[in-house]
Amino acid sequence: MAKLTVNDLEVRGKRVFVRVDYNVPMAEQNGQMVINDDTRIRATLPTLDLLIKGGARIILTAHLGRPDGKPEPTMSLRPVAAKLADLVGRPVAFVDDCIGEKVEKTVGALKDGDIVLLENTRFYAGEEANDAGFAEQLAKVAEHYVNDAFGAAHRGHASTEGVARIVAKRGGKCAAGLLMERELQFLGDELENPARPFVVILGGAKVSDKIKVIDRLLEKADTILIGGAMAYTFKLAQGLRVGKSLVEPDKTDVASAAVDKAAEKKVDFLIPSDNVVARPVKTDKLNKKGKPVIELHDHRVNAEPNIPDDLEGVDIGPATVKSFCDVIAKAKTILWNGPMGIFEDKRFADGTFAVARAVAETTKNNGAKSIIGGGDSVKAINNAGLGDQVTFMSTGGGASLEFLEGAVLPGVAALSDKKI
Ligand code: AMP
Repeated sequence: MAKLTVNDLEVRGKRVFVRVDYNVPMAEQNGQMVINDDTRIRATLPTLDLLIKGGARIILTAHLGRPDGKPEPTMSLRPVAAKLADLVGRPVAFVDDCIGEKVEKTVGALKDGDIVLLENTRFYAGEEANDAGFAEQLAKVAEHYVNDAFGAAHRGHASTEGVARIVAKRGGKCAAGLLMERELQFLGDELENPARPFVVILGGAKVSDKIKVIDRLLEKADTILIGGAMAYTFKLAQGLRVGKSLVEPDKTDVASAAVDKAAEKKVDFLIPSDNVVARPVKTDKLNKKGKPVIELHDHRVNAEPNIPDDLEGVDIGPATVKSFCDVIAKAKTILWNGPMGIFEDKRFADGTFAVARAVAETTKNNGAKSIIGGGDSVKAINNAGLGDQVTFMSTGGGASLEFLEGAVLPGVAALSDKKI
């Protein structure tokens, strides 16, 4: 059922508890934590503008990093308050706790349109445990609840779920923020009855991470294009050789079942016919996990489906790029999740960037709706400078995958249903 949105709330003079996703990348510079990328902060501005104009007293909560239930100065949200103040052009108060007297006092002094950001909710173990007592303490200052943190909605934590339940029980309203609303619209409603052809592009590391998504999309898609390392598990399932490629040999049965289902549902299911390959060479250097760094040498196109025993598949090849892009060009709806190769390395990024360009061009030339399902594909589209040329880019990684699988996200389920 459709969820209430922040547009449906009467907020003037009300204390509105807003869960946002301010889990921004930070780095230490001269002893201070500095925000490297403020995209997630900017993404909340439409909801905040609406609440400010509506005269709400805004209490922002978020998590940052994994402090494991105790205060960790490098994971404080204080720098975010300063950044947000710059972006909204008005003061943003900060409280160095998320529960207790200090919070109550600051919230009590808020005037209509004022904003306070509370400290990292994960400084308490009760947050991730969704502890009822902790959620009660958080909810103490809340009259209404808004969730704009789609990226955290797959977590049933105190600030994403527990507080909403308490607010609703007290007769308050629980609504989706504008960012959350768009996520639900594009990853949900738009894909229920997609304009056809509906082309799904899936890549990334593992079949096991995405098999539930594949299974669900086989019910809806006209064509599924498989790239990335997960294509090698499909190759293996077909009896092809994959050399030293990243592969999940214990998932070939799952891959075969997906191919069978595609045939039954008359979904075109394409895996790469050629690949870029490279020779993995173990070095003396160790990575962060203490394992030897593997360098990839002598990359070249391998023009046939089998990959030689001493080589590793690192990208889709030019023939595959062409056949994938031809399919994409005819699409009216496109969903993309996961890169076609190890795109972080420029040598192996051609396939991913070619797909990114094809998605952007088809959006423009064919009026297709293009939906980028979070994580690395969003990074790839942005790296290609095409971020403003697709219809929608999800802000969720794990959350968008779980949502596409058809899972009920706890942070969404806890929102009030819209009464029609
Ligand atoms: P995912 O989070 O599952 O979307 O996976 C993204 C990761 O898959 C990226 O870090 C890519 O480098 C990696 N990846 C894509 N293709 C390959 C490949 N052929 N071999 C190894 N890793 C790959």
